[in-house]
Amino acid sequence: MTSPPDRARGNGSRPSGPPKLPPLHCPRCGAAAEDLSGCAPCRAEGVGVNPVPPPADLSGLSLADFPGGPWGWPSAMPVPGPPVTLGEGATPHLALEGPNGSNGADGADGTGLWLKYEGANPTGSHKDRAMAVGAAAARAAGADTVVAASSGNAGASAAAYAARAGLRCVIFTTDRVPGPLRAQIDALGAIRVVRRDLAARNAAMREAVERFGWYPLTSFVAPSPGGNGYANEGYKSVAYEIARDFGDRAGTVVVPTSRADLLAGIGRGFRELREAGLLGRLPRLVAAEPAGAAPFTAALARAGRAEQERVRVASVPSPAFSLGEETPCWQGLDALWRSDGSAVAVPTEDFMAEHRALGAGGIFLEPSSAVAVAAARGLAREHRDGAVIAIGTATGLKDTASVAGAGAAAAGLPELAELTA
Ligand SMILES: [Zn+2]
Repeated sequence: MTSPPDRARGNGSRPSGPPKLPPLHCPRCGAAAEDLSGCAPCRAEGVGVNPVPPPADLSGLSLADFPGGPWGWPSAMPVPGPPVTLGEGATPHLALEGPNGSNGADGADGTGLWLKYEGANPTGSHKDRAMAVGAAAARAAGADTVVAASSGNAGASAAAYAARAGLRCVIFTTDRVPGPLRAQIDALGAIRVVRRDLAARNAAMREAVERFGWYPLTSFVAPSPGGNGYANEGYKSVAYEIARDFGDRAGTVVVPTSRADLLAGIGRGFRELREAGLLGRLPRLVAAEPAGAAPFTAALARAGRAEQERVRVASVPSPAFSLGEETPCWQGLDALWRSDGSAVAVPTEDFMAEHRALGAGGIFLEPSSAVAVAAARGLAREHRDGAVIAIGTATGLKDTASVAGAGAAAAGLPELAELTA
């Protein structure tokens, strides 16, 4: 008896298809993800959850040898094949305040207040860690066009890494995007599609994914469950870098939080390290939010996880333009629960004062980053156990309009003698 030739297997002379990406599973209910839109069963329960790939096995690796960045340990990333890189990651840890409140001096034991300066990334924000991995995932999935819906930082980063990977890039925005970010997206060769508001922006993005099959590097449903589950693995490298430089002296890590992709990624990175025996304890994670849009703070004020998962707040515009969600993404809550963490809502006047204080110390961050530093400064002064590390997610050059003129510049053309007082 003979069987017909099995054409699907090919004859071995054809080039193989794109390498396979590992499946994503919901960290809340365990369901396999069918696409990149978040967990459908959890969404039906009213909870936005972002499925993740299996955790990486870091056993046998040496933290002392970790060079930094998402590709520092390629085996920790979910994407096979050559990396897409512009030199992202390996960002500096800057001392802001010593353990006794001394200005700028780091304690000999590594305690005190520190800034992880993500503005040093190629496009000026932490998003580069994710978009490097996301662009590689898109290529591995066989995509020719990637899409992102973004208020700015993610769009600029997606444009850069798509270009680096040789992929076409379409960015969906509104006209509220700050001018420098518009310029950055345009200069990087992306097609920028402007819609009148966030709802219209998200609808256009969804159509691009569902009708044209373009590859999403950010969320495309509302409320957002979080960004691309493969790309977000790049954020684990923030945890690896902190663990390499601080070890068990890292007591608290404060993260400016919106959709919690960064917060959740840092939490996964620390847990992988502890699982492999490379870290003795998990640092406490803190979600820092502007007081006008603080769903994590509102959630943790409730009793019981079922209540916390379903919180919704009314978001108001703030100078922290890249923050401002109305619901707490579940994986962010999970990161806080697992690390005995907390959330802090910072009033606008407090984080703008922090923004000026940072500038006076030579550090120009976007206001969203100052939210985390302001929260971290308060925690450091409570004599926390170990170093308090704030994540400064982006350079201040991203959004100059909200801070221009906030400093001590003299208006007009003063007589120089007036400046000598
Ligand atoms: Zn689920």
